[in-house]
Amino acid sequence: MIDSEDELLISTSNRKRPGRPKNEVWQHFNTIPADSTNGKKDLHSGAACKFCKQKWSRGKTSEMIAHLALQCPKPPPPEVRALYLEILNNGSFDDNDDDNSSKRSKPYKQSKITNHVERLTVTDDKQRRCSRALTKFFVTCVVPLWIVENPFFIDYLKELCPGFQVPKRTILSTTMINVETATVIAEMKKKLSNETNLTLGLDGWTSPAGQSLYIFLIMTSDGKEYIHSLKNFSKNSHTGEFLKNEIIKVIEEVGAEKFCSIVSDHASNVVLTKNLVSTKYPHIFPIRCIAHHINLLSSDIIKLNWATNIITCCKKIVTFFKQSHAGGAILQQEIVENMIKGGGLKKYVITRWTTAYDCTDSIIRCKNALKQILENESQLLNLEIISILRKQNFFRNVKDLRTILLPIKKAIINLEHKSTTLADCFINLVIMATAIKELSQTNTGLQINTFRIICEKALSIWKLLGGREKSANELIAQISNYSLKSKLYDFEFVTGIHTVKNWWLMCKQQNNHIQKLALLMASIVPSNASCERYFSILGWYMNKRRTSLNCSLLQNMLQMHAYYVSNISNEIKHAYKELSDEGFEDAKIINLKMMMN
Ligand SMILES: [Zn+2]
Repeated sequence: MIDSEDELLISTSNRKRPGRPKNEVWQHFNTIPADSTNGKKDLHSGAACKFCKQKWSRGKTSEMIAHLALQCPKPPPPEVRALYLEILNNGSFDDNDDDNSSKRSKPYKQSKITNHVERLTVTDDKQRRCSRALTKFFVTCVVPLWIVENPFFIDYLKELCPGFQVPKRTILSTTMINVETATVIAEMKKKLSNETNLTLGLDGWTSPAGQSLYIFLIMTSDGKEYIHSLKNFSKNSHTGEFLKNEIIKVIEEVGAEKFCSIVSDHASNVVLTKNLVSTKYPHIFPIRCIAHHINLLSSDIIKLNWATNIITCCKKIVTFFKQSHAGGAILQQEIVENMIKGGGLKKYVITRWTTAYDCTDSIIRCKNALKQILENESQLLNLEIISILRKQNFFRNVKDLRTILLPIKKAIINLEHKSTTLADCFINLVIMATAIKELSQTNTGLQINTFRIICEKALSIWKLLGGREKSANELIAQISNYSLKSKLYDFEFVTGIHTVKNWWLMCKQQNNHIQKLALLMASIVPSNASCERYFSILGWYMNKRRTSLNCSLLQNMLQMHAYYVSNISNEIKHAYKELSDEGFEDAKIINLKMMMN
């Protein structure tokens, strides 16, 4: 073995050195001569990034490569970053650089002589695959990284595969996560290069450590999600102009022509930002998160006198039965005897507004039980409850309110789902309108000017997409043919086989403007519930013990999490393989739901 101490003794001169040459990555770093003043014979040269000036007292090849590929805040030229991303991805750097140059670390390695024996039992390839699977597990299951050094966990892994070298926590959080991130970023780029009509989701969050973190999430039209970046804006003031520049950086890096919308919540600076971006790129539509809209709608309904009165009565009943032991016990008994499904009365919590539905629904569910108690055990009730329950139409009114709240609850749940598009919003709004209309029993029928409104809206969008007069006229003609279900648009939509996207792709014609518009509309993801989901994952990553995780590591873990979940069928090698595709989907969804909450 060549003693690489020799090469390190020679400082920064460019003279050709004997021994193994330094890794090429050093060309992007200034060498800091080893510090010999402290008396210790520390012979390892330090490194300083030429781009961001970050310093290391000891330059480790693998750390330096990861820094250039993933972490450097003043990013090196794209081709440099791409090169090191690839090197990291292929693992084609010699990690032993560091170990060989460090004589002092050798005794630690040798302390486990059994390692050498065990290593014989697993191939390098097996070790690599196990390491990858382990990294995936830690990132997606949001398990604290220190678990990897827990003796019981190590024992468990060793029972499964005695030859597997269980990594140290520091290796897991650096080398392994870096290499895996490089793979994920490379795959992500490949996948995004084929996509169009992307939506950028943007949301801010204050971490447990008080940092102001922003997520930039890229959503595709078929429900896949990729974390572009997680940025720490704690030191910046979040003006519209500042955020605009950040968004434009992201958009231009991926390719501005690939995006069709930006979605975010309703914070005023973000609204301003989205509008600023749309001024620069008119084809990128600013979208407000639909779930927030519907939340507002629902709170408006609850504020109506009629609804407020009903909810107040329901609350009184629920509170009474929760507080009165005798009353609660007899109600419970009735519920059991009548085999009422879904359990007892549910509380209404103002901030979690879907509970308004749950509360009214539970009253209706327990209607007969409540009536029985009123008839047979009224001595257990107080006068207020008796008068509520005796009120004419009480249950009828609760039922009506429930009827209105149900589609709203469903809409919220549907719209927060990953694969929701603008088209689903429209359908859910129509369902809600129908529910309200049915109550009033006054059917106004189809609005005569609806078609005109649709056409005008379509034209205004078409103009933003850069359409001229001729194509605009053709578009209107196509929309009118579509509304008449004339040829070309007369194919049945087969549920379960067709998606909105491939139904439209089937309608082929020259100058297919309507198809372009429809695909665009079906691609916009109108909810940034996903961003909130990732913040809750971040919350898990950053629980009490781990507030020290830095932003770039968090970004990498989140990128991996999003990528694995979006491409789970390819990423899972063994689990659920005995299930049919459908069963796999179900099992996957159930487990992912747990993962997401
Ligand atoms: Zn740097």
